[in-house]
Amino acid sequence: MAKLIDGKAVSAKVKAQVRDEVSALKEKGVHVGLAVVIVGNNQASRVYVNNKKKACAEVGIESFEYALPEETTQAELLELVAKLNGDDNVNGILVQLPLPKQIDENAVINEILPEKDVDAFHPANVGHIMIGDYSFLPCTPAGIMELIADTGIDVCGKKCVVVGRSNIVGKPMAMLLLHSNGTVTICHSRTENLKEICAEADILVAAVGRRDFITGDMVKEGAVVIDVGMNRNDEGKLCGDCKFDECAEKAGFITPVPGGVGPMTIAMLMKNTVTAARIKAGIA
Ligand code: NDP
Repeated sequence: MAKLIDGKAVSAKVKAQVRDEVSALKEKGVHVGLAVVIVGNNQASRVYVNNKKKACAEVGIESFEYALPEETTQAELLELVAKLNGDDNVNGILVQLPLPKQIDENAVINEILPEKDVDAFHPANVGHIMIGDYSFLPCTPAGIMELIADTGIDVCGKKCVVVGRSNIVGKPMAMLLLHSNGTVTICHSRTENLKEICAEADILVAAVGRRDFITGDMVKEGAVVIDVGMNRNDEGKLCGDCKFDECAEKAGFITPVPGGVGPMTIAMLMKNTVTAARIKAGIA
């Protein structure tokens, strides 16, 4: 039976470090601020934004919320981002995705100054991650690396399989595992023999967005299984991409949903924001 990887506990450690860094910066006269922009009435986005603001309060980061109406135009949002780019009280800018359909998400991401792009979605930051020379890592994959480290298992030389190739999870996840010397396979909706490939993984990361997608027969005995999925079951309860009981039977370590990857994403956002403040202040 797998050991649970406790995302709440690991994220609490990261947030405690961030809180210490924030107070050390404050003593040097450096205040840390995060602007959180939400457009429209997406309920899930509202929950994420509230959680991010709550985490800011916990670690001493000042948060500035900008809640814009559903009918906001792209030009209006770009204007706000430009204003935040020039605001010295704002070290990080987070625009909660998804955006309403009249707004091109890439145009907005491209407008955020790379040094304030605490989500690490800007092409400049993506490029830095690709070459392994970065200040910020995208929050979810960076959080997953912390969770894997918490198991005590070294990624070096391990067979790593990432199911999903999105720009925000799958691709950067694969890159971080590669930087840690894993042997990485990326799978997607056109992958053939997915079950066999997954069943060979020492480290399996599921970022598909379909509940019960990963079944016990896709998990190697003793593997580390990271479930990124955030889905709802018929009762509206949060659940991941893995059939938990079956996968936990085979895995050596597994993340629960909720309480696994989710809390880490927010903790890493806090970490990126304090890094942005430190870089701006010229403090290594
Ligand atoms: P996307 O929808 O952008 O990507 C899903 C990926 O899954 C795609 O690459 C897709 O392949 C692949 N996929 C879909 N169907 C199959 C299939 N049958 N076989 C193999 N691969 C398949 O999702 P995200 O990456 O944004 O998110 C994935 C999940 O993680 C979601 O549930 C999301 O809510 C969650 N999430 C959780 C976070 C957290 O903090 N816990 C943060 C971010 C996301 P293809 O490219 O070929 O279409």
